[in-house]
Amino acid sequence: MKEVSTSPPKAALTDPFGRDVTYLRVSVTDRCDFRCTYCMSEHMTFLPKQDLLSLEELSRLCGLFVSRGVRKLRITGGEPLVRRDIMRLFRDLSRHLTTGALDELTLTTNGSQLARHAAELADCGVRRVNVSLDTRDADKFREITRWGDLDKVLGGIRAAREAGLRVKINTVALKGFNDREIPELIRWAHGEGMDITFIEVMPMGEMEVARVDQYLPISQLKADLMSHFTFEDSDYRTGGPARYATLRETGGIVGFITPMTHNFCESCNRVRLTCTGTLYMCLGQEDSADLRKVLRASEGDGPVLEAIDAAISRKPKGHDFIIDRDTRKPAVGRHMSVTGG
Ligand code: SAM
Ligand code: SF4
Repeated sequence: MKEVSTSPPKAALTDPFGRDVTYLRVSVTDRCDFRCTYCMSEHMTFLPKQDLLSLEELSRLCGLFVSRGVRKLRITGGEPLVRRDIMRLFRDLSRHLTTGALDELTLTTNGSQLARHAAELADCGVRRVNVSLDTRDADKFREITRWGDLDKVLGGIRAAREAGLRVKINTVALKGFNDREIPELIRWAHGEGMDITFIEVMPMGEMEVARVDQYLPISQLKADLMSHFTFEDSDYRTGGPARYATLRETGGIVGFITPMTHNFCESCNRVRLTCTGTLYMCLGQEDSADLRKVLRASEGDGPVLEAIDAAISRKPKGHDFIIDRDTRKPAVGRHMSVTGG
């Protein structure tokens, strides 16, 4: 794939609020083999394939971000492992780990295709993966994912661990769905040596169900968990928005991502690139920059770097998510699978 010219070295990407952008999340496809009820509607219209950036274009853009100080890349989607030949992208990006320009190459996956890719991911320098799992009950798993097969995901998690990858479980806290199972999910994850993080549902994209009926505030979840576990403060950080606690009973770590109840924007270090080359400077705002157009219009990297700089100079202070009975409209029209979680 095309080598990126990295000279002369340029300053870090710093936004108007003094936050350095060191983390890029890349959604490599908007498609998925699941239809989680909080993420997608049942009948999604996906982007025409010709609108997608090629793997070479994705790699080129990632390389440009790395040349401007991005130290962490997370590949996501949609389901990243359903994109054809996706391992070519991992293989190609791994060169930034070899040069030391990148600290971490990682991915977020639903785990359905992990069994067949785990060994190669490890070989590409991936050390940790986030696997999304909202329940360990096979029937409920089918209900929430609409199309998913729990055994396949558990097999994927096993394969990842056998390949030497650290697995973190991501669970969306869903009122009336998994709230009662959460203590048991924690015991399972910690028993297997995996960290687990809980996420509040965010109002992104039109859904069949009302958000307010899914939304379980993490503050409430934590209060419930205190009757099961003893929380000990943890200064553990991964550079993301989660805040962590160690549970005395299991010795394991639990993370909480609270976009709704606790606004984590002040320490935001990330931007998100979609599979069509649109850069979103905030998950919860509509403003974006079309990098595909500049990328395709120029052989040289200069104009693309200028477009990236211009976009970062517009990074907003934070999101305006609201979930309540009166606010039925999503904060942003696009689904989570478009921007990449
Ligand atoms: N398909 C992969 C997966 O499920 O891990 C990667 C993409 S998915 C969009 C990334 C994460 O976003 C998942 O952990 C998913 O549970 C979460 N997610 C999706 N829609 C969400 C929403 N509306 N609010 C909060 N989290 C959401
Ligand atoms: Fe697919 Fe992930 Fe969205 Fe579920 S959360 S529908 S697995 S992209």
